[in-house]
Amino acid sequence: MSYLKQPDYVRYVCNCGSLKPISKIYFCRHCSKIRCGYCVCQEVDSHYCTNCMENLPSTEVRLKKNKCSNCFECPCCFQTLCTRAGHVPIRVAPVEGENSKDVKTTPKKVYYLSCSLCRWTSRDAGIPDQSVATGGWPEQENPHTSRINALIDYHKILASIEKQQCEKKKFRPKRPYMPIAMFRITSAMVRKHIGHPTKPSAPSTDQPPPAVASTEVEELPADIFTAPVDITKVTTLAQRLQHPDVQAENVNELRPQRRQFLVKRSQRCRVCEHNLSKPDLCPQSTKFKIQLAAFYHVPEVRIVTCEPLRPGKSSELLLKFCNPTQHQTQITLLPLDTPMTSTVTVLDEKEEHKHEIMQQGSESPNLLPSIVRQVPIPEETKSIKITANADLVLPHSPLILPPRDDIAEYDDTSDTHNFQDDPKLVVWRKDNKAVMKLHVTPHEDIQKSDGQSVIIGFVMQYGYVNTITALEHKAPQKLDLKVKLYLTVGNIVGNA
Ligand SMILES: [Zn+2]
Ligand SMILES: [Zn+2]
Ligand SMILES: [Zn+2]
Ligand SMILES: [Zn+2]
Repeated sequence: MSYLKQPDYVRYVCNCGSLKPISKIYFCRHCSKIRCGYCVCQEVDSHYCTNCMENLPSTEVRLKKNKCSNCFECPCCFQTLCTRAGHVPIRVAPVEGENSKDVKTTPKKVYYLSCSLCRWTSRDAGIPDQSVATGGWPEQENPHTSRINALIDYHKILASIEKQQCEKKKFRPKRPYMPIAMFRITSAMVRKHIGHPTKPSAPSTDQPPPAVASTEVEELPADIFTAPVDITKVTTLAQRLQHPDVQAENVNELRPQRRQFLVKRSQRCRVCEHNLSKPDLCPQSTKFKIQLAAFYHVPEVRIVTCEPLRPGKSSELLLKFCNPTQHQTQITLLPLDTPMTSTVTVLDEKEEHKHEIMQQGSESPNLLPSIVRQVPIPEETKSIKITANADLVLPHSPLILPPRDDIAEYDDTSDTHNFQDDPKLVVWRKDNKAVMKLHVTPHEDIQKSDGQSVIIGFVMQYGYVNTITALEHKAPQKLDLKVKLYLTVGNIVGNA
């Protein structure tokens, strides 16, 4: 897991100004721009249980309080509990006439919950065994249920009043109906509270009393500082917070919890509202209907090696470029102050026809509605909070990378494409990847302390073939796109 915690050395600048590694950004083919997590709308597509893989509609999920009715979680270690069968002997009443001392016993099958990881069982907690394998387990009542229900009812009324006022003003809110739809309103409620608009004070009478902060706290037990503590009998913070409405203090008060549902989310471009990522709705599937992660569309840059860095001294830097697309690309490195506009050229229609066919299957569900849609928020540009502190000698010639070929990955005899590379610039090449040798000179005024990071930046211009236009029966576009990158190439070495 440690590799997941390492800093991001190569960062791409999103149009909003945030810096992200390529694994955390999307590429919108409709806008031809990079979109980071702030530039997409998150939408919930489906709810499912990770254990039994049950997939439920959102209305049912709400009724079930977002918890699976079949699966239970261990209150100690949070693993899924399994139902185990056991036998208990049943005393059978002696038949009249027979010797009353002769008592027959017949075993009866009973079920209990058990954790196969920490060995917690429902019998430990004193929960009676069940005679049926599924269901029937007593659910712990939330001590605040009546207060919560009163608040929900009150907000339902407020929502219905808001809805009525909106309709009166003939004002259609631009946002979706989510805030109102959150509360299910019964017709009786509406009649009661909306049918009498002459009484504006009506809802306030239903307002539950507000929560009041109190300075009075329960006294601690007298032996709190003298009684020896047995930590095996006291619950951990994680165990308490797993069930916040009860927060059991002692291990024997822990009760099995219903497993929470997880959601599958899709991401939508905030600017053009097209989907950038949409998972397959089936809970068992790990596939995507739409997956426009930048990793599949934008060339990836990796740092291979960098010589020790000293202020004012030139060091060799090896960068690996990888073309993830089905089209040849040409990469040109430009200085940081290059204007970020793109140029478009239309390709020959026949040449690209095969891609049109290929794309159609995957693109049709692109504008499928999601269950919950987030409100689009206008794009906001943040200033880049990073400055380069080293000079980079940029190559004069562009780097051509052939398309990705999954079969060539496993073929050592694959041809090397015979590109006329400058051997001083391109030091290695295989399939859709190449390594470029560049030179970095950290600024003279850089802090000379050991461990100061050296940051370089450049604009990468890359050829991109947009096949999305093929769907609109237009020829695919060949675009020259630009993306700004900042690389942390290493640290300044001490005076040696
Ligand atoms: Zn962004
Ligand atoms: Zn389940
Ligand atoms: Zn357990
Ligand atoms: Zn877009």
